[in-house]
Amino acid sequence: MTTKVKTATEIVSMKESGRLLAEILVKLAQMVEPGISTKDLAVVAARELQAAGAGAPFLGYQGFPDVICISLNDEVVHGIPQPTRIIANGDLVSLDFGVNWRGMITDSALTLIAGQAKSPKHEQLIKYTNESLNEGIAVVHDGVRTGDIAAAVEAVLSRHNYGIVRDLVGHGVGHHLHEDPNIPNYGRANTGPWLKAGMTIAIEPMATLRSEQVMLDPDGWTVRTRDHSMSAHFEHTVLITETGAEVLTQRIL
Ligand code: MG
Ligand code: MG
Repeated sequence: MTTKVKTATEIVSMKESGRLLAEILVKLAQMVEPGISTKDLAVVAARELQAAGAGAPFLGYQGFPDVICISLNDEVVHGIPQPTRIIANGDLVSLDFGVNWRGMITDSALTLIAGQAKSPKHEQLIKYTNESLNEGIAVVHDGVRTGDIAAAVEAVLSRHNYGIVRDLVGHGVGHHLHEDPNIPNYGRANTGPWLKAGMTIAIEPMATLRSEQVMLDPDGWTVRTRDHSMSAHFEHTVLITETGAEVLTQRIL
């Protein structure tokens, strides 16, 4: 189903949903350090949702077993939190989280390094994947086409010769975690569906240091790079406005 133009009341709930998501994500990001397990982080995420009276849109989504996806290093997305999965110094840690507040869902992700980076290339991958998200957001306004966003994201990632994961894409969001249309991270401007003010979308570039090819782990969820190159993922839920975009999951640090 195509993402709807949200009502004023729904937009208020979307904003509250996004603000809560950002607050929890900042808290989790601050906890990331060598020695903590990915499940430790997920437990905190679940507790924070519960304390706020909010729902967990990831939990049970097509059978996903937790409230957050935590993916390390060559894992691109959809990593399942595990008590035995201990974060090590220099790991690239991607946190992808969702919140359901009064029926309105927001979706956001970030990647950071635990402890000390093993290579400046890892820091750059994170920096420019985030920049590609910001460039994608920068072209959003009433009447933007999905290809305009895609081209803006791709321009940044291509400039740095990163692999752009094509099997996974951004999407409409709000009443459901994934609504149409798809918002790819590659493509040509002036192509694809038109988007209107009042729609809410998730833009989420996933980039790798080498190949764009990914594979699925035997757990049926974890998506990782085929060549085991490092990967980064950033995502914001964005409200399209007449003149631009409002980032609903903006983190205040
Ligand atoms: Mg997400
Ligand atoms: Mg998403």
